[in-house]
Amino acid sequence: MSEARPPDACALVTGGSRGIGAAIARALAADGWPVAINYLTGAAAAAALVGEIESAGGRAVAIAGDVTDPASPAALLEAAQNALGGPVLGLINNAGVRADGLALSLTDDDWRIVLDTNLGSTYRLTRAALRAMIRARFGRVVNIASVVGPRANAGQANYAASKAAVIAFTKTAGVEVARRGVTINAVAPGLIATDMTADIPDAFRDRVPAARPGTPEEVASAVAFLASDRAGYITASTVYVDGGLSA
Ligand code: NDP
Repeated sequence: MSEARPPDACALVTGGSRGIGAAIARALAADGWPVAINYLTGAAAAAALVGEIESAGGRAVAIAGDVTDPASPAALLEAAQNALGGPVLGLINNAGVRADGLALSLTDDDWRIVLDTNLGSTYRLTRAALRAMIRARFGRVVNIASVVGPRANAGQANYAASKAAVIAFTKTAGVEVARRGVTINAVAPGLIATDMTADIPDAFRDRVPAARPGTPEEVASAVAFLASDRAGYITASTVYVDGGLSA
């Protein structure tokens, strides 16, 4: 399947300013990827992360951009390539949002923003990145899904629909490019301690078999593995990082 990562390849992490995305950016940089860190509002956090990666001997750049903007894929890929000197051959579709409510009371905006951020951007960025990956005969796309989607979670019908669709997209798109040296996989985290889950009640935490929330670093290590040369025969697959929650 895939050969070794081309020496000029770089990685792009959407929503990399904090939480799981920031941990992914650190892990990829530690594996030698030059990393473009996309952010929406977290300019200071993204700049601090770039400084941290550079102090550790890595290369990184922060790039502003709203992944729901249809013009963002081309702009992000071009900015990453210009700053880091090579094509984006590692794409981590991590940016995500919640807008919870029971299905009977979700607004059209709640539906649209969650589907477009979590699913639409994953499709648009993957589509934009694949051409260079196919040309290089090397590519790694990792889409951040969730245990919610494959499993029900009352109050998150929009989020569940977006994440189940991310897994479905990953399977079919992964199969389409499998013979090109390009892998497309999903990582489905369970309950991970970040800003997004700061308001999750303790009762939910008690349902995790590992009896604790996961850390962003535990998700990032699975992502870094899937992005590595060692994972060339894993594609169209979903890796659960959930302390047993989906079992
Ligand atoms: P956070 O809320 O901590 O961070 C969200 C990140 O997404 C931020 O970097 C934010 O950027 C960015 N973002 C949001 N909207 C946009 C946008 N329109 N354009 C660009 N960036 C955007 O989330 P987590 O780290 O917890 O979650 C990361 C991913 O993991 C998400 O896809 C989430 O659904 C998924 N996940 C999380 C779980 C958890 O338990 N935490 C469990 C399962 C899945 P900024 O700060 O710059 O505005």
